[in-house]
Amino acid sequence: MYKKTMSAMLAAGLVLSVGVASAQEPVQKPNAQAASAFDNKIIKKISSDNMYNTIAKLSAQPREAGTEGEWIGVQYIKSQFEQLGYETELQPFTFNEVVRGTGSLTVNGATLDPYVFSGSYSAEVTADIVHVGLAKSGEVPDEVRGKIALIERGEITFVEKIQNVLDKGAVGVIMYNNSGTSNRFGQANAGQNIPAVAITRDQGLELVNQLKGGPVEATIKVEGSGFVEKTSYNVIAKMKPHKNKDTNQVVMIGAHHDSVAGGPGANDDASGVSAVLELARVMANMPTDTELRFVTFGAEEKGLLGSYHYAGSLSEEDADRIVAHFQMDMVGARDAGGDHPAGGLIMYTIDGKKNLVTDLGSAAGARTAADTVIPYGQLGRSDHQPFHELGIPAALFIHSPLESTYHTPDDTLDKIDKNKLQEAAEIVGASVYQIARPDTPALEHARVAPGPVDYDFNDRPPGA
Ligand SMILES: [Zn+2]
Repeated sequence: MYKKTMSAMLAAGLVLSVGVASAQEPVQKPNAQAASAFDNKIIKKISSDNMYNTIAKLSAQPREAGTEGEWIGVQYIKSQFEQLGYETELQPFTFNEVVRGTGSLTVNGATLDPYVFSGSYSAEVTADIVHVGLAKSGEVPDEVRGKIALIERGEITFVEKIQNVLDKGAVGVIMYNNSGTSNRFGQANAGQNIPAVAITRDQGLELVNQLKGGPVEATIKVEGSGFVEKTSYNVIAKMKPHKNKDTNQVVMIGAHHDSVAGGPGANDDASGVSAVLELARVMANMPTDTELRFVTFGAEEKGLLGSYHYAGSLSEEDADRIVAHFQMDMVGARDAGGDHPAGGLIMYTIDGKKNLVTDLGSAAGARTAADTVIPYGQLGRSDHQPFHELGIPAALFIHSPLESTYHTPDDTLDKIDKNKLQEAAEIVGASVYQIARPDTPALEHARVAPGPVDYDFNDRPPGA
């Protein structure tokens, strides 16, 4: 496969002229560069001990979005930003948390033990059963009105099936499996106000059989199930540039502070938050010509909800000012990264293409503690996604492949490697400062940037 080198891309005019030595200077040898005095202003101040302590505080309890644990973490992060003198804002947003309750199903007096759909509406209904097959749109008979729909699983989604019978006036859903012996399946959407339960294929076929002999009445009872509205938060800290040197550009440094349910999330992603806070500390009083925005997102683990909310809240004008988004997610795991160089650090972009962030990150890798150019790859699955969708150069910094403790209660502080924290923070810090420092009046005019490096695409699945 053809691999574009950086110099070939530059010759072809394919990349921004960031990090490019001026034409008069000799081309620096790729992949062997020393930290500049500018880099040292940042990287000499970065303390992995500080980051480690932040992780210790945040991972003292799980921080699942919408829980007290998240709120404790959010308060801590906010207080840290404020102590550093940042203009800090909590941005709340709500989301629907699915709850699966309990239920029962009685058919002609016989009791079945159904599986309640996740998010099923809680209600008790008694009505005759109507078999509606796969419940595809346009194929649900009118006679299901006021009745319980018996539906076969398959071909279209659970939610679509429920909606199709709801639209025809059904009052309950019994779905039977299309194979195997399990009844554990099913998911309803918020607003689908109809109780829905799952049964096995054999049970379903038995009901189909019974219906041939005449009406079959059933009672579905679902309790404690549905959707609960919860509130999560983004924490946003801003540092305005020097008034006389304002390029009107914004650089964002992000991580997510929420964890999975029951997981302390030391690496995922207290590690990224610790690097965000440490870079905020290091850059707090540093003159820049670029606005720095440090953000920790909530509800990443629920589907990038916080970052999508944030991106959606930006005015078009504000979004246009953002020139780069650096996302750090899982940057401290001792056991991640396999045998890959730089502890397995890689920069993932959504489209698998290089961009400004990866150009800066790879070059910074060669000048900082990692002492290695960092490869790039293709992956979503973190908060760089909504920024990419806004057309903003964005990348995820992560160690890949992931550690085996990913999303488990064992994602704990003792498995954090300070070296890895240090390297990731240095690379992102040096990259950000490359844009933000005042002697580079705007990106396209950088004159004293270090030379470019060759860096490669690495087709490295993160696993898990
Ligand atoms: Zn995660």
